[in-house]
Formats: sequence, C-alpha cells, structure tokens
Amino acid sequence: MLIEPKIIGGVCLSAHPLGLKKALEQQIEYVKEAGEITMPKRVLVLGGSTGYGLATRISSAFGGCAGTINISLERVPTEKKPASPGWYSNMYFDEAAKKEGLIAESLNADAFAHETRLTVIDKIRELFGQVDLVVYSLASPARKDPNSNEIYKSVLKPLGKTYTAKSVDFIRKTVAEVSIEAATEEEELNTVKVMGGGDWMLWINALLEANVLAEGAKSIAYSYIGPEITYAIYRSGTIGSAKENLEKTAGALDSMLKSIGGEAFVSVNKALVTRASSVIPVVPLYISLLYKIMKEKGIHEGCIEQMYRMLRTKIYGPNGTLRDENGLVHMDDWEMRKDVQDLIGARWDKINNENLESLTDIKGFREDFMRLHGFDWPSVDYGADVNPMG
Ligand code: NAD
Repeated sequence: MLIEPKIIGGVCLSAHPLGLKKALEQQIEYVKEAGEITMPKRVLVLGGSTGYGLATRISSAFGGCAGTINISLERVPTEKKPASPGWYSNMYFDEAAKKEGLIAESLNADAFAHETRLTVIDKIRELFGQVDLVVYSLASPARKDPNSNEIYKSVLKPLGKTYTAKSVDFIRKTVAEVSIEAATEEEELNTVKVMGGGDWMLWINALLEANVLAEGAKSIAYSYIGPEITYAIYRSGTIGSAKENLEKTAGALDSMLKSIGGEAFVSVNKALVTRASSVIPVVPLYISLLYKIMKEKGIHEGCIEQMYRMLRTKIYGPNGTLRDENGLVHMDDWEMRKDVQDLIGARWDKINNENLESLTDIKGFREDFMRLHGFDWPSVDYGADVNPMG
C-alpha cells in the first residue's frame, strides 16, 4: 500500500516503516561513531519505542553494548493500516541489536498494569537475572490505575487563570494567539496521576521486591523545567505539577535504592520535538526558536545526542552521576545557557507570520516532526508500495 502522512490537529496518524528504519539507522550510526560508553550491560527501558526512551535504549545498546528489554504501547499494523511509529522502531531495533549479538526484547504492553510488571520480572529473570539500569520514559495521555481500575486523563493546561500566548501551527507555518483555560483542581490531580511518579514508584517497588535489581542499580526518569516564557503552560501548569511529583518521587526512590547501593534521580532534558512535546501549546514555537539559536551556535542536539552525552558523561562518567543540589542531572545545560535564553527573550515578542521562517527554525521543527513518523526522508520513495507489516 501507499502510506502518506495523515495529520490532524498536530497529530500524525500514519507512519512509514522505511523512513522509521532510516531514522533508527541514523541514530545507531551516530552512537557508533561517537564511541563506547563504559556502563553496565543490563538495561530495562519503560517507554523505549520513541523519543528520549528510544534514544536511551540505542545509546545503551550500541554505545554501551548493553542488552535491553523495552516496554512500550504501540498500535500494531494490519494489512490495511500502518502501525504507530514506535512499533516499527522496536522491530528494527531488535533486529539490529540481535545482529550484533546483543539481547534485545520489546514487549508491547500497558506499562501501568500490574500484569505487565509480572511479565517483565519473568523476562528479566530469564534473560538477565537482574538489571543494572531502569529508564522510566513514559509519556501518555491517560493511565488506568492498576489498583482501582479508574482511568485518569492528563491535560496540558495552565493553573489559576486562563493563559493567552503566541503559538504556532507548524504544519501550516502560521502564528496565532491561543487562549487556554485554567485547569480544574481535578484535572491537575489527574495529570499528576498519569505523569507523576506514582507508577515509577510501583515499578521500583515491584522490581526490588522480586530481587531483580542488581547491586548498585540506577533508575532515571525524565523531566523538563525550561525558561520563564514557557512556565505558564509547562512548569507552572498541570504537567509541571506532575513533574514536581516525579522529582519528589525520585527522592523517595533514591532512599529506597540505597539498600542495594543504588540510586534514583531525574534528568532534566532539553525541549525537543517528540510525539509528546508537539501537542503542548506554545512549546512548538519555543522549540522552533530554540532550534534556530542552538543551531546557529553549533550546540543543537536531538534525542540521541542528549541521551548519549547523558550516559557517557553525566551518569557513567569518571565521577559517577553528576547531580545538582536538588538531586537533578541537567541535560538542559546548553538550552538554559544565558546567551541562548537572552536571544529567546529578545526574539520572542517579534515573531509573526512574516518573519516566522527567518526568526525561527520552523522548517527544522516540521522536518523533525515528519521524520518521527517516517516521512520526509529524501532517500525513501514515498510513491512506491510498502508493506505496512514492516
Ligand atoms: P514519546 O511520546 O516519544 O515517548 C513516550 C513513550 O511512552 C513511548 O515509547 C510510548 O510507547 C510509551 N508509552 C506511553 N503509554 C504507555 C503505556 N501505557 N504503556 C507502555 N508504554 C507507554 O515521549 P518523550 O518526549 O520521549 O517523553 C519521554 C519522557 O521525557 C517524558 O517523561 C517527558 O515528559 C520527558 N521529557 C520530554 C521532553 C521533550 O521535549 N520531548 C523534554 C524533557 C523531558
């Protein structure tokens, strides 16, 4: 069948297997060229099919020679409908890793469910005995509480009052003001239920109890803080409440893991185009401006560069995990540089429909977005028939 981009409201509903294969190969190549990471060899990734989780998995496997188990939830393909992007990435990742003699297992399952934890514990025992690193990189719009079976939905809204700001339609390349109503208290609590640390805590508890965490095991989850310009919608919004909860949970898990000489912490990553971030209002415009400035300064990174640098220099470097006084690892160090943020502040108010292409890297944002779904690769013939089964 022919597979074309099908984009509705900033969400792409189709995915092209050949483009996703290219994207995976490019990330593997980057890591191989960047050189070896000295790290332990048994890694569990929760949410490792796309974005930051996939980049951590690729860096661990192809940089650190680690075996990996990944749990993610992706739509499977049919003869008539392509899968969601991560399904293809998992398939190609497992193939590529196995070719190099690495253990690689991808499970398509709801990571929030207790049954999945039990299946994963069995898998760890079968393949590794224990794991040395647990990466928590889930991003989801909803979560079914495994104890009450209640379904919670997350929202991306400000708190307290309606927020009006500039936002971009990155497909049409137009700027417009958007107003987002403040979240209710319930919406805030629900967002914390989905994107906070509750599920991470359940995972580490279960893994500890089953004795499948190795001596010295580490666990990382990912967060974002960003500059004041995005506070209303991010850090001081519903998602920010969830991230604060996640960071607090890291403290509790860190204490628990001391019993095995391990640690838990949060890495604050750079704002990047992923399936999760492209649906946050205001953020795509901020990312487009950020890309432009960081590319001009030669310090732009994508997920793979971020996660490779994190593992090699900030977690498994010669001085161990490099944390700030709040226990956080900072991969937003270059994004938050004063010279970068000063330029963002100076340009933000000036952006309009006429100068969008010259002041921001809207082209780069759009291209990254398309490539997340396997489109826009010059070497792929999109006019040719492709098997959606991959
Ligand atoms: P993403 O959408 O690319 O990845 C989300 C992953 O979660 C996918 O592998 C998906 O399959 C998996 N997933 C979702 N629901 C699941 C479920 N019920 N069961 C199993 N797997 C499930 O997102 P991302 O942007 O890479 O985000 C990963 C983490 O990084 C999040 O915590 C996010 O807040 C954080 N982060 C993102 C950015 C950014 O700019 N993208 C910046 C800093 C931190």
